[in-house]
Parts: sequence; structure tokens; C-alpha cells
Amino acid sequence: MGYKAVNPATGEELQSVACIGSRELESALEESFQAYLQWRETGYECRAGLVGAVGEILRQNSKKYADIITREMGKPIAAARGEIDKCARLCDFYAEHGAGYLSDEEIKVDSGRSFVTYNPLGPVLAVMPWNFPFWQVLRFAVPALMAGNTCLLKHAANVPGCAAEVEKVLLQAGLPRGVFSNLFINKEQALEILGDGRVRGATLTGSVSAGRAIAERAGSMLKKTVLELGGSDPYLVLEDADLELAARTCAASRLMNNGQTCIAAKRIIVVQKVYDDFMDLFLQEMARANMADPMHDDCTLGPMAREDLRRELHGQVERSMGQGARLELGGYIPEGPGFWYPGTVLSGVKPGMPAFEEELFGPAAAVISANDEKEAIELANRTRFGLGSAVFTRDIERGTRIASSEIEAGSCFVNSMVQSDPRLPFGGIKDSGYGRELSVQGIREFTNIKTVFVR
Ligand code: NAP
Repeated sequence: MGYKAVNPATGEELQSVACIGSRELESALEESFQAYLQWRETGYECRAGLVGAVGEILRQNSKKYADIITREMGKPIAAARGEIDKCARLCDFYAEHGAGYLSDEEIKVDSGRSFVTYNPLGPVLAVMPWNFPFWQVLRFAVPALMAGNTCLLKHAANVPGCAAEVEKVLLQAGLPRGVFSNLFINKEQALEILGDGRVRGATLTGSVSAGRAIAERAGSMLKKTVLELGGSDPYLVLEDADLELAARTCAASRLMNNGQTCIAAKRIIVVQKVYDDFMDLFLQEMARANMADPMHDDCTLGPMAREDLRRELHGQVERSMGQGARLELGGYIPEGPGFWYPGTVLSGVKPGMPAFEEELFGPAAAVISANDEKEAIELANRTRFGLGSAVFTRDIERGTRIASSEIEAGSCFVNSMVQSDPRLPFGGIKDSGYGRELSVQGIREFTNIKTVFVR
């Protein structure tokens, strides 16, 4: 099976690309390995210059890249431009800070000199999803390249145009051939090359099942992995919350990227005392979503990326209703072409229902009632996931306590939606994966943290 891009707004096929064969794959692996031997010898200054140039090219051609993103996966065009801008800021960030994050660290010992130095590992395989088709790739690649690794990309099968374009940007910026290579390969080929001695590690952003497949294979080869997987982020609304802020933020988070964000507000847990007031406000916010042509600036809710994803989401909504959840908004498949799904709200969601136990990867929110703070925290943690989380309260001390020590997740935001930021580490626990991207922690993931002792 090869790559096929279908415009999710219309259902029209855009292009298809065949997977490369074993001979081409072998030469790509060798090219990546040979490029690594040269690339690791370049200094941070050289790499920072090239990474900075990547950012410039992204900024100059923002419209062109945004158009490709929206055509292939359907996010509103304004959000696609935002994604490109964020990638450019990521490049600026690591061009400025990469060298500092990887500089040698002197450590005092009894005699002699000792220090820690960060060496690159080699070619690293990146298996990436379609939902932020530039950002997810560069979020991994930019720090990995700064550290002196080379990157092999296996992008999602529905975004071949984005995959090819990201590679072009890096080549245009002046990176030597083989330092970043897009490989049109399928899942089986991706797993196969993990067995190749030249590939030194792998990162995957995607579903739990894909993460398991990569981890199993890499584990059997004793290769380092970083996994950024799914989530079912709890957003807690406590009785002292600013309800308008909470409703606005929960709706914006749930609908962002047409509901297809790993860190969206998926389980909104509201303390009983404010449940009805919150629900009124939340429904108003969710109903405001403008389902319109994603190529137009006034669109705030585009189509889902693929028909099978819409089918899966609708099935989860219906099965939850079958178990007693109430449909407050949306919840139907619109007539006509494309993979549209309206902003949807389920209330009365309880443990055991699909909307509580599974990830809803589309614009459908699950609202859950809790008696008090204690029960809200219990419900928040009663999940196999642990990516992001948020808590809404006017009592900042209370919010900070809950965020820092009560919620089991890779991040917890107080009175704000969860968002990634190059300055802050990003990642999850439990079935949401392990390892971190971004910040200082991210750039060190694919390095050999080497101890040097000199007598
Ligand atoms: P997906 O089906 O897991 O696909 C992601 C990538 O993994 C694609 O390149 C896919 O290739 C590949 N893949 C799938 N199964 C594989 C296997 N068994 N072995 C090797 N590679 C495999 O995920 P998706 O539906 O595109 O993306 C949605 C999921 O990603 C959600 O769960 C979301 O929460 C998660 N996500 C997490 C983060 C994060 O930072 N934590 C960010 C974004 C998304 P094909 O396209 O060829 O199938």
C-alpha cells in the first residue's frame, strides 16, 4: 500500500505515491549513515545557521505550505499558517539555545577532571502523524539535527505532499543530502529498518497501537525510543472557576485542529455545584463553531482528516449514548461529500463508556459530573492515558497544588488550555508514551550522555 492524499473537505483524490522498493531504501539508509559521519563533525554554529535558514524559508513561504496542509488534512487555513509560524519559531529557538543545551558540563570529583558531553547517536527514524504534518516532524527533527543526528522520516500515508515539502525545505536551507530524508515507506518497512544496524533510534508520534509496535521492535533491538501517543486529557472545572473562561477554553481546546489534537480537552470534569451553569456556557461556545470551507479564513471547524476516522468517532459517540450518555449537540454525519462532523457534546458521561475510556479523536466532548474536588481528581486519573490536563479555579494556590502533585499527566495547566511551547518539555506517561520533546530535555533524548574522566 502506498501514500494517498484525499482532500477531506471534498473527498477528491489529490495524489498517490508508491512506496519505494528495497534497493532504494537501502541506498537511502546508506546515504543517511554516510551523511551522519560528516554531519556530526560540523559544529553547533554551522548547524544553528542551517536551522535558522529553515525557519526563514518557512516564514517566506508560509502561505504555500499552509495551503498544502489544509488541502491534505483539512485544518482551517488560519491554523495551518499558525502551524508554519510555530515551526519557524521552533527553528529560531533551537538555533539560539541548542548549543547551550548541549555544551559540556563540568562535574567536580575528588581528583582529575570530569565532565559530561553530549554526542549524537546516528540516523534516527521518525514515524509521524498527519494532524500537524509540519510541526510534528520538525518538533523532533530540529533538535535531533542540532545534536548532530540525521533523520529518516516515515510520514503518515495521507500526507505525501507535506512529507515531500518538509524535505524540500530542509534541502533548500542548505542541509547536505541525506541529513534529512523523507522515505515513502509503509509501516512494515518502517519496522524492518529498525533492525538495521545503521539506524540508532526511533521516535513515533501517533496512536497507542503504533507506539507499541515501534517499541516492541526497537526494544528487541535495544534501540532508544521516544513515544508521543494519544491522550484523553481531563479538564477539571471546580466550583470556584471563572465559568466563562473555562467554557471558552474547553471549547477552543476541544475544537482545535478539527478536534484532532492529542492534547485537546477530551474529558471535561465539572463539579456538580456549577455543572448546569457551565454546561449552558459550554454549549453556546461549541455551537459557535463555523463549519465552512477550510481554505477560507472564516472557517473554525473543518472536516475530519479521513472517512474511517469519522466513522470511528461517530461509533464511539453512538456507543456512549447506548450506555446512557446524553447527546446535547451535534452527533450526526452530515449529508454530502467530505468527512465533516459537527461540534458534538455528550453529557452524563461515566466510567465504562467509550467517551470516558477511549480517546475521542474528533470534535466530540465528553462532560462528566463530579461531587467535589476529590472525586474530580479521582475521575481525572482514572484513565490509561497521561498526556496533558488542566484545572480551572480562581484559587491559584489550589490550582497549583492540584497541577503539581495530584494529576497524573505529563503536564497540567491552570486556567489555560494545554499547548506545546519550544521552551517547555512535552510528553506523557502511561499509555500516552514516554520521553520528552522540546526544551532542554527534548534535545538530549537522542544523544549519548557521555561521562569523560581525565586523570
Ligand atoms: P497512527 O495511525 O498511529 O499513525 C501515526 C503514524 O504511525 C503514521 O505514520 C502511521 O503510518 C504509523 N503507523 C501506524 N501503525 C503503525 C505500526 N503498526 N507500525 C509502524 N508504524 C505505524 O495515528 P494517527 O491516527 O495518524 O494519529 C492520531 C493519534 O496520534 C492519536 O492517538 C493522537 O492522540 C496521537 N498524537 C499524539 C501526539 C503527541 O504528541 N502525544 C501528537 C499528535 C497525535 P500510516 O499512515 O502508513 O498508517
